[in-house]
Amino acid sequence: MNKNTDQSELTGGCYCGLVRYRISGKPDKVAFCHCQSCRKISGAPVTVAVMVRHERLEYTNNQPKYFTSSKDARRGFCDECGTPVCWTGTWHNKEQVFVYVGTLDDISKVHPDRHAFTDSQVPWLTVNEELPGYDHSSPSDALISEQT
Ligand SMILES: [Zn+2]
Ligand SMILES: [Zn+2]
Repeated sequence: MNKNTDQSELTGGCYCGLVRYRISGKPDKVAFCHCQSCRKISGAPVTVAVMVRHERLEYTNNQPKYFTSSKDARRGFCDECGTPVCWTGTWHNKEQVFVYVGTLDDISKVHPDRHAFTDSQVPWLTVNEELPGYDHSSPSDALISEQT
């Protein structure tokens, strides 16, 4: 069941507060990401990120600094405290931003609904196994629409 329907706004930022953002509307998906890039960049065995359309994310303080991590993705981080905040690129034919849920002010407002890049999952990590998993990137909003 998709629980990501009730909140109209999510806010968050980096550890030091230099980068601050606001997301309007519900996330299009909330995915565990097991890919190697996220693992390296976060230093954590798995990450969770909310996907939102570019125009629904607004920076309310400084913007993150970006570097290009692959041909498909640019990674945003705070250049003061180093917090990885998001990555951005084109998926599902739209410019999307994935924001790491660890940077949200209230992480309890979002609920992961899938696993992406399970082909890279750490073998000793088991978490929320009842959620659907995808070898690579996960499909678009179809899954969420089915559930609402
Ligand atoms: Zn910072
Ligand atoms: Zn990833």
